[in-house]
Amino acid sequence: MSSLSPYRIQGTTGAWEVVIGLEVHAQVTSKAKLFSGASTDFGAEPNSQVSLVDAAMPGMLPVPNRECIRQAVRTGMALDARINPWSRFDRKNYFYADLPQGYQISQLYHPIVGEGEITILLDEKDEASAKKIGIERIHLEQDAGKLMHDQHPSFSYVDLNRCGVALMEIVSRPDMRSPEEAGAYVRKLRSILRYVGSCDGNMEQGSMRADVNVSVRREGEPLGTRTETKNVNSVRFIMAAIEHEASRQVDILEGGGTIVQETRLWDPDKSETRSLRSKEEAHDYRYFPDPDLLPVELSDEFLADCRSSLPELPDAKRRRYEAELGLSPYNAAVLTADVETARWFEALLGQLGEEHSQRASNWVISDLFGALNRLGKGMEESPVTPAQGAELLRLVADGTLSGTLAKQVFEIMLETGDDPGRIVEERALKQTSDTGAIEAAIAEVLAANSDKVADYRGGKDKLFGFFVGQTMKAMQGKANPSVVNELLKKALD
Ligand code: ADP
Ligand code: MG
Repeated sequence: MSSLSPYRIQGTTGAWEVVIGLEVHAQVTSKAKLFSGASTDFGAEPNSQVSLVDAAMPGMLPVPNRECIRQAVRTGMALDARINPWSRFDRKNYFYADLPQGYQISQLYHPIVGEGEITILLDEKDEASAKKIGIERIHLEQDAGKLMHDQHPSFSYVDLNRCGVALMEIVSRPDMRSPEEAGAYVRKLRSILRYVGSCDGNMEQGSMRADVNVSVRREGEPLGTRTETKNVNSVRFIMAAIEHEASRQVDILEGGGTIVQETRLWDPDKSETRSLRSKEEAHDYRYFPDPDLLPVELSDEFLADCRSSLPELPDAKRRRYEAELGLSPYNAAVLTADVETARWFEALLGQLGEEHSQRASNWVISDLFGALNRLGKGMEESPVTPAQGAELLRLVADGTLSGTLAKQVFEIMLETGDDPGRIVEERALKQTSDTGAIEAAIAEVLAANSDKVADYRGGKDKLFGFFVGQTMKAMQGKANPSVVNELLKKALD
């Protein structure tokens, strides 16, 4: 259990506990849609990726995409969930202009994946802050299209490119108790999906969005009535929506009111939730088994193939980095949080050797992350390859480059994409231990600062750093610092 103090909302009549359950819609990574061969590429011209099935032309029949089913099963396995070898698709009937079929194909009664769990760490450095969040189910369903409304003149447009794209709906139990826990849950889920390769986790492009269920209660009381805030598309917004919604509910309850179960919308501009529709006005979807589709039956071979295709997952990797590579809990957590980072780091170690794990991990976290942050780039867009990073670290290890020079070389690598060895050769950036040159520089520095030399000899020891700095400057940063130290001591004492 968490060692942090529990999150509470302090009302005028006492403290309230917040209860959160999330329904995350994750777009399945697949070239084609759930029941048609149309492409799922993001950013295409409106209505250029719509098959006759997606447009619901009369007489068209859906054909399940095996890859989407495989991705849902692999995801379920990664969440330690029960995989249902027999599942079925249902029709959820409603009319909306972005849904030409007049129903969404989904799985209400027999989802493909049952109960599972996700372990979150509230403090990434501390295994004792772990908490398990239950997963209720994962089912497959179709996405709808997109409507766009113009005011002047007033027109509405529909883009059906997303229509029929496969979504996994991942439903949590109401196990979260603070905005931070919900944030950690979404980040962890996103991390696992990206490791598995079943969803790219791109929240800006809408590949992952959450319906946020929130209720409040006095500690120890049964669950309160929840509201559901639809389609929130960033971790920050999810956390803000919970905070806003929980305190709104507390205000109502403390004022003697009751919470109505309703669907709400998150308004990011005003940072508040707004009522969309109450449960009383909600549709009766008249679910029934889709007569166009056979039940999905998963063979043992298919299941075995799904399982053997799973990569090492973030928790296992984090523990291995600590136990086998000797990394600190913090470094292990940071390097395994995203699959691209872990891949890059492992490629680096592959070149460098595992005995350099600690130095390599520090370099990736401070220097490489720092640079990518400055450039606004992700790991997969790194201008420096793992092989180049390994070469740079080797040049430091064999004494060719000092720490200062290595930073200089790294900056040039970022700008030019050149290999560090070549940069060192071409720009003569090698560190030198040439005592003659260093002694000459020291002589110059001491001559130019005779007053300070006198002060130093009079007992102002702190001036030593000044002399080191001046000598390094005179050597254009290329002198071996330990040789400089040694020769300076000799010259001064
Ligand atoms: P629906 O499909 O109508 O939204 P579900 O039973 O599938 O209903 O629940 C949806 C989500 O609501 C789940 O993630 C669940 O954890 C969450 N939930 C259920 N009850 C509560 C509650 N009292 N407070 C907060 N979340 C809740
Ligand atoms: Mg719901």
